[in-house]
Amino acid sequence: MKARLVLRFPPLLVDQPVVYKLIKDYNLVFNILRADITPDSEGLMVLEIEGEERNFQKGLRYLEEKGVKVQPLSQDIVMREELCTHCGACVVHCPTGALHFDEERRVIFSPEKCVACEVCVDICPFRAMEITLG
Ligand code: SF4
Ligand code: SF4
Repeated sequence: MKARLVLRFPPLLVDQPVVYKLIKDYNLVFNILRADITPDSEGLMVLEIEGEERNFQKGLRYLEEKGVKVQPLSQDIVMREELCTHCGACVVHCPTGALHFDEERRVIFSPEKCVACEVCVDICPFRAMEITLG
């Protein structure tokens, strides 16, 4: 199975090789889609993780036992449709095609393609794209 997950590390774990063990002990493969790690404060990492379901579940349990909070990535960025004017400014900058036009040139957000890079959050002049972490 494959999933995109948001991992939040408490300050005590930020400088420990926690994620490395997913490969070594649980035979999981991952891509780091985003990482914000600052010493002495909470760390955030967005991973795409792939592996056998049994190992995947064991790996998640290991992370949670270590004190890492794990959430599905789709909860990370939301579009507030009532604020969106469909100006399209975000569409050309979205690296994954998660923001795209439909046939009527309305901007559509596809959360399953979003890697939470936050580019649209910074670019949108109407603050229609929001981070929902926390
Ligand atoms: S956060 Fe990044 S990937 Fe997600 S919709 Fe915005 S620009 Fe696209
Ligand atoms: S930049 Fe903002 S207002 Fe413009 S299309 Fe994107 S989300 Fe909508």
